[in-house]
Amino acid sequence: MKLILGPMPEAVQATVRRLIDSAGEQFVESDRRFVGFVLWGGPVGCDIIDADGEVWSCSWWNGDDTVERVPDGPRKVGAIAIAAEREPGLALWLPQRPAGANDCSVCGGLGTLSQMNGVQCPECVGLGWLSEPHERV
Ligand SMILES: [Zn+2]
Repeated sequence: MKLILGPMPEAVQATVRRLIDSAGEQFVESDRRFVGFVLWGGPVGCDIIDADGEVWSCSWWNGDDTVERVPDGPRKVGAIAIAAEREPGLALWLPQRPAGANDCSVCGGLGTLSQMNGVQCPECVGLGWLSEPHERV
């Protein structure tokens, strides 16, 4: 099973619109200016979601602010999973745990690494489970 989000459900669209209305920030991607909600941010970059459900990765690691679209896949799932801890409305968009999925052995099913200050588990991208056959992130 491939880990993807697919199109954003209507209920999640409403949540994202509300988040952008209340806390949206402006971002510039080449010539495009858009308003998005910051899913998470760190010292070297952040992920943003726009009203269409596209996730954008900002990086200021190289000194040049770059914004790149994050294709649907484990990386995007992980970004939504992080934000869903603060904004439960986003969790509706996360993949459902399939029957027969195993608890992630790396994080013990928690989705975060407690020994690393609650950093998102890279193995299961924060979901806490792995489907078989396992596709590595
Ligand atoms: Zn895990």
